[in-house]
Amino acid sequence: MDAGDPVYVDVFGSGRRPATVVYERRGAVRVRYDDGDEQTVSPNKVHPKRGAPRANALARASTYVSELVCVEKPETDRAPWYLAWIRKQKCEWCSVTTGVQASHHPREGGGSTAMKCSDFRTLPLCFGCHHRFTVRQQIGSMTPEQTRQWAEEHLTDRLSAYIRESR
Ligand SMILES: [Zn+2]
Repeated sequence: MDAGDPVYVDVFGSGRRPATVVYERRGAVRVRYDDGDEQTVSPNKVHPKRGAPRANALARASTYVSELVCVEKPETDRAPWYLAWIRKQKCEWCSVTTGVQASHHPREGGGSTAMKCSDFRTLPLCFGCHHRFTVRQQIGSMTPEQTRQWAEEHLTDRLSAYIRESR
């Protein structure tokens, strides 16, 4: 667990209390409750808040807004909680709300799907738009170059919106 992670803590006699991790050290977790009280508890009493992104992951997302680069280390850039949020959005191009997929922004000049970009470089797209985007690499009457530029701007907007909502 990292500092800032939102958690629930088992409190004897009163169920679970929401708290934030201050630090974790040698089998003990320091937590801060919403009223400001702090306590050091055993790790098995601390449960991550389900569905909430971990603090360092959100910080990682924030850095992507300023340095949107295609990273070639997929294992370090998986963010399933961000993809889940993306799938709940409207299609970025045609505003359809059902069957929305998280579409990874293709690498410059194409590239295999095995070399997918970071999960932060995704747009919500419906099945049809996703296909046009990843296979034909162009949407609507835009050229592939215009499509890339459009995607670049919109994925930054999405990430910013996500960060705003999560705060
Ligand atoms: Zn669409």
